[in-house]
Amino acid sequence: MNIIGDLIKRSNKIVVKIGSHTLSDNNGKINMEIMHNIVGQLYDLMQKGKRIIIVSSGAGICGVAAINKWHRKEDINYKQALCAIGQVELMMAYKELFAEYDIHVGQILVSRDDFGDHSRNLHIRNTLFTLVDEGVVPIINENDSVSVDEIKIGDNDTLSALTANLWAADLLILMSDIDGIYDKNPKVNKDAQLIEEIYDIDKLMLRIDTTGKSDFGTGGIITKIYAARSVNEYGIPLVLVNGTKKDILRKIVNGTEKGTVFFGK
Ligand code: ADP
Repeated sequence: MNIIGDLIKRSNKIVVKIGSHTLSDNNGKINMEIMHNIVGQLYDLMQKGKRIIIVSSGAGICGVAAINKWHRKEDINYKQALCAIGQVELMMAYKELFAEYDIHVGQILVSRDDFGDHSRNLHIRNTLFTLVDEGVVPIINENDSVSVDEIKIGDNDTLSALTANLWAADLLILMSDIDGIYDKNPKVNKDAQLIEEIYDIDKLMLRIDTTGKSDFGTGGIITKIYAARSVNEYGIPLVLVNGTKKDILRKIVNGTEKGTVFFGK
């Protein structure tokens, strides 16, 4: 039985979150090869009648790569400036990659307030529905250049969960740099065991170690688990897969790669 593959086949409205570590190579530059491959896989899904919304990290990395300075600056104004520069680069990359398939992309930048306010909520929803209905792929990111701590969503795992709930998605797929949830951090523990199906997050939390995260990622594994809890409450399953592996979605669908699925209780 291929639970995750079948889930992807059955789902029509899919939010795909692409993490910063998926998009970057070892030198901290954007990995165009993997980005190209992911866009190709999303196009395949669209050809099968599925509708896709992307939540993409990577603006900061793109900013550093584009301007080649300020990466050591800790000041918030420089970090936000890097995101302002990098967001353009990121969207240019998506635009060019989707253009190969004659598909347009639309950028939506949001802050936490946008999800709390009824009227803004409605407007984001309507814009998403319009874009998707017209065959355009919305690409969402937090508006990092204006967000301050008090109004920050903070990480794109949470943003993708908010988006999946708002759009009433059938499935949320998180792409990271690990195959799924393990009993301990697989980056530092060679004997870490992959957990493929999760039905009870409270029980999971008692048995796994969630410490440690990557250099660029803002969330770590814990925000992915919180995202799962949030969408599961609305009956939306969450799948965590390794986006750095070529053809990952194709392989998950044909059963040659594994991931983790959260179904909720
Ligand atoms: P992204 O940038 O893709 O959102 P993060 O780097 O923020 O991803 O979080 C994923 C990282 O969390 C993994 O690379 C891994 O090092 C770390 N991690 C810590 N504990 C676990 C665990 N129990 N299972 C899987 N990954 C874990």
